[in-house]
Amino acid sequence: PQLVNQIAAGEVIDRPASVIKELLENSLDAGATRIDVDIEQGGSRLMRVRDNGSGIARDELALALSRHAISKVASLDDLECVASLGFRGEALPSIASVSRLTLTTCQPGAMAGWRLQGDGRETFGQPEPAAHPQGTTVEVRDLFFNVPARRKFLRAERTEYHHIDEVVRRIALSRFELSLTLSHNGRVQADWRAAADPAARERRVAQGVGTAFLEQAIHVEHAAAGLHLHGWLGAPTYSRAQTDQQYFYVNGRMVRDKVLSHAVRLAYQDVLYHGRQPAFVLFLEMDPTAVDVNAHPTKAEVRWRESRLVHDFLHHTLKDALARVRP
Ligand code: ADP
Ligand code: MG
Repeated sequence: PQLVNQIAAGEVIDRPASVIKELLENSLDAGATRIDVDIEQGGSRLMRVRDNGSGIARDELALALSRHAISKVASLDDLECVASLGFRGEALPSIASVSRLTLTTCQPGAMAGWRLQGDGRETFGQPEPAAHPQGTTVEVRDLFFNVPARRKFLRAERTEYHHIDEVVRRIALSRFELSLTLSHNGRVQADWRAAADPAARERRVAQGVGTAFLEQAIHVEHAAAGLHLHGWLGAPTYSRAQTDQQYFYVNGRMVRDKVLSHAVRLAYQDVLYHGRQPAFVLFLEMDPTAVDVNAHPTKAEVRWRESRLVHDFLHHTLKDALARVRP
């Protein structure tokens, strides 16, 4: 079974940044409003994610680390409508099978907190009492220490940290009301303050994608046929510095999606006669049963029930937005 976990880990966990992604999604699922991420040596030595969420009951600690606990899915019907970010119940077991993992947690109103430690093996000791404020801290040390073939593939500290920084940025842009910090080797690198009003939200977008992007960005806001798109689209005059300033969220989850890429390219072609891939931060809100955001284990791809409808909605909305500012 531990081998099964390690194989699953290969599918879901390919580098420190994927650990951070899974841990952050768990914290969000637990209703956290504040998350602090501490990284040492690009994550290969330590990744610590502390949240103020709902915590884990003592008796569920071991369960959280065993495969397919699937606590978030109450029935099969729920699979149809996955509101929370994760439902596979394999991230923590996978991570635990390839690292030294410690869970420390305390539920609201509980007298004491609890800690459970793993050392990459299948069995865990008993939870021990531990001091912890409400919420959960997950510590992942020495990632891949017991899978040398994978450890060898870790890149330079700077590279791995860069991937982590990008994962944190994606989450930060998906939840404006979340307070989030990222520290590397003892230094705070990013401090994402909760943004309650429109001005603060714009500051947050500027923090994530740059002031140059935001100052010229076209504001997008349109709803039709049960679809609601809002956000910021890069102005034709803005040439993005990095290749990857494309943030697209479906019901709060960042996805990579060909339907959107195509709609964006087409909109630019229609208005500006070239099919550039611009920078954007876009949020699509829709009926969760009309889209499958869990089509892939790393959960970045989506399956639409009516991709044509979504495509045409995106295309027309973006085209109209672009036409408003046509140079
Ligand atoms: P899932 O797909 O359910 O997210 P995971 O393996 O990622 O599976 O997590 C296993 C379970 O551990 C979760 O379903 C949840 O009950 C619990 N859990 C993990 N992280 C946290 C957290 N930060 N706060 C509260 N509960 C958590
Ligand atoms: Mg999860």
